[in-house]
Amino acid sequence: MSVRVVARIRPLLETELDKDVIVRAEGLEGQKALAMVKIPNPKNESEEFSFAFNGVYDRGTTQEELFSAEVAPHIKSLFQGLDVTIFAYGVTGTGKTHTMRGGLKLAERGVIPRLLSNVFRRGKKIAKDTNGETTVEVALSYYEIYNDKVFDLLEAPEKRTPSGLPLREKDGKTFVVGLSERSCEDLKDFEKIYIESNNNRITAATKLNAHSSRSHAILRVKVTQTTDTMVRESTCSAIDLAGSEDNRRTDNGKERLVESAAINKSLFVLSQCVDAISRGDKRIPYRESKMTRILSLGQNNGITIMILNLAPMRSYHLDTLSSLNVSSRAKRIEVREIENEVVFKQAPRTMSGGLGGNNVQRQAL
Ligand code: ADP
Ligand code: MG
Repeated sequence: MSVRVVARIRPLLETELDKDVIVRAEGLEGQKALAMVKIPNPKNESEEFSFAFNGVYDRGTTQEELFSAEVAPHIKSLFQGLDVTIFAYGVTGTGKTHTMRGGLKLAERGVIPRLLSNVFRRGKKIAKDTNGETTVEVALSYYEIYNDKVFDLLEAPEKRTPSGLPLREKDGKTFVVGLSERSCEDLKDFEKIYIESNNNRITAATKLNAHSSRSHAILRVKVTQTTDTMVRESTCSAIDLAGSEDNRRTDNGKERLVESAAINKSLFVLSQCVDAISRGDKRIPYRESKMTRILSLGQNNGITIMILNLAPMRSYHLDTLSSLNVSSRAKRIEVREIENEVVFKQAPRTMSGGLGGNNVQRQAL
């Protein structure tokens, strides 16, 4: 069971070129790879906070680069029977959907289509290398969790139960009862299903952006390898999470408050699970939210990758800081920054607000 937490800073959009950039990436001393995100202290701008990650991807990072570095290496493990879970976490507008889904152009395609493409390629290769003795089947489920209710995105909106699909436990695993699964032969097949379901999601919502930023969208890719003597099943889940901003700030209608409570709770539990896994704890609090329960987060022998999406502008300052606090990991990282007279150590676990984020504090030498 392993977890990687990485940060991706998005570039300024064409309409933002005049905006003040306050988030930057840095390497650890003597290392080329970026591993730290730096942001000013809003209360004292002469001071900078640093947050350590397993990897940091700066503004120029392409979709291909992110995929090859963070996802491609795990596809082999998926075929060896491990479950892989990839989350995009962050404030609305920071690039979660861009990272997971991406654009239609080849170069702009995100993690999900690239993942499927690699899975199909590897599946075909395995079938070929074993002279057809091993068959590889790929099946998709796609659902969203909105206000703690599960909705099947492969179903047409009018067919969905308004109260959501129930969960059930069997053999220690959690299942969504009645969740549909579509078998998928190749990338074309996948794209058809995926685009159709995303459109379903649009027609089901009154305000597209408002809705999609307030629900978690989960794509589950099930890979089944069958021979005469065995069946091996593993899943890769790719999750575009609800926006981590405090929704109450923008709109405090009753509906928003219910949504905020559900989002905050599930993101909070998620961060606690990621923390517990990265610490190697035996007890992972995955049962405390529907999302982590369905994913059985940390219960399987699997790999979890959390991508924290960040926008570099000042207008996101407080939200960025709070998502950095939730996601950053400083495990086993010890850095010395001579020019600033700063020592980074395994930071004491401050449980500020109950979130186990390891904010690497500035410490005078
Ligand atoms: P979120 O899903 O987190 O709300 P989006 O993925 O919708 O954010 O991104 C917000 C905007 O920024 C979109 O217009 C998107 O195309 C753009 N964007 C995000 N990340 C990148 C990137 N790495 N390169 C170019 N444009 C990006
Ligand atoms: Mg989005």
